[in-house]
Amino acid sequence: MPNISPEIQALASDMITLRRDFHRHPELGGQEVRTAGIVAQRLRSLGYTVRTGLAKTGVTGFLKGGKSGKTVLLRADMDALPIQEETDVPWRSETPGVMHACGHDTHTAMGLTAAAALAGGAQSLSGNVFFVFQPAEELSMGAEAMLRDGALEGVRVDAALAVHIMNQWPTGTIAICDGPAMASADKLMLTVTGRGGHGATPHHAIDPVVASAQIITALQTLISRETPPLEAAILSITMLKAGSAFNIIPDAVEMTGTFRCFNPDLRERLLAGITRIAEGVAASFRCAAQVRNEFLTPAVLNDPAVTRIAREAAAGVVGADRVIAPPPLTGSEDAAYFWQKVPGCYAFIGTARPEWSPAPSIHNSKFDIDESALAVGADFLVQAARRILQTP
Ligand SMILES: [Zn+2]
Ligand SMILES: [Zn+2]
Repeated sequence: MPNISPEIQALASDMITLRRDFHRHPELGGQEVRTAGIVAQRLRSLGYTVRTGLAKTGVTGFLKGGKSGKTVLLRADMDALPIQEETDVPWRSETPGVMHACGHDTHTAMGLTAAAALAGGAQSLSGNVFFVFQPAEELSMGAEAMLRDGALEGVRVDAALAVHIMNQWPTGTIAICDGPAMASADKLMLTVTGRGGHGATPHHAIDPVVASAQIITALQTLISRETPPLEAAILSITMLKAGSAFNIIPDAVEMTGTFRCFNPDLRERLLAGITRIAEGVAASFRCAAQVRNEFLTPAVLNDPAVTRIAREAAAGVVGADRVIAPPPLTGSEDAAYFWQKVPGCYAFIGTARPEWSPAPSIHNSKFDIDESALAVGADFLVQAARRILQTP
């Protein structure tokens, strides 16, 4: 069983109440007004110096420790998803079509609980803590917007921590990646243009549909032939739009997809390859291709020194044999924008009940967690923050 500190044990039932309240009242990215209000009020009452209105609904809280030293940033996200909840838990969403299906309600509750525990021991804290509650993670917008609004101005931060709950691991485990933790994400948009005509006379038209089929297939060679075999990259064309009738060859095909990887240099090379292949294959079929990409988030790269300290803290909470070092996850996280500025460790808190097989997945209408795992997450944040401040 996890070795939860008495200070978190004392706060655990309040944390669950808080989480259930956030869960009942989920707010979509950019609209976290109620949630942000509770966060700001709680932080103020704990003695934090609070800033609000960063990226509209983002909140930061700074607390000076009793002894001077470093400053550690603890980041949580607050937004929910446009999903109709289909669980039968008593605290299910009361907002139609909106659900905390990614656990950001738990991140906010764990963050506020860690804030309370750290404030309780502030006199003995050898340094400062700085909490960031960000909006719009699911839109890959909140972190960058908070930084643009000056969230880190006036504070010199030495290290950063964040957690995400995950049902792929059971309660009582903490998973920490060394190096890359989550992938960069780009949205791809391709337009392949030919010349429309009658489906019965393709020789009088230039068919962008056949060209697009070849492009989709050829793009996968970027993964199989141009990505080093021991590195990872993912390219998925997920939307295709073309045509209006069975007998009309359309003028153009629109494609959308996602492209992810962990290595920024490889990302640049493969993005150039996507354009090269799309334009080259299109040209060989007398079509033209236009490729655009929207850079959503960089990869989350865990810093070796901060991660080593976080791993020690995790071992103190759940035992060294329950601290997992998984391969990187191919999802993405806009905490990456903070991690680009501050050396950080992004960790995963196991929240699956042992009897669940399979456990409900995040972003699913039936998503649920074992709430007893929240004490693990909050305690990990507190112990890791303290260790970072104590390390010279
Ligand atoms: Zn999510
Ligand atoms: Zn999430």
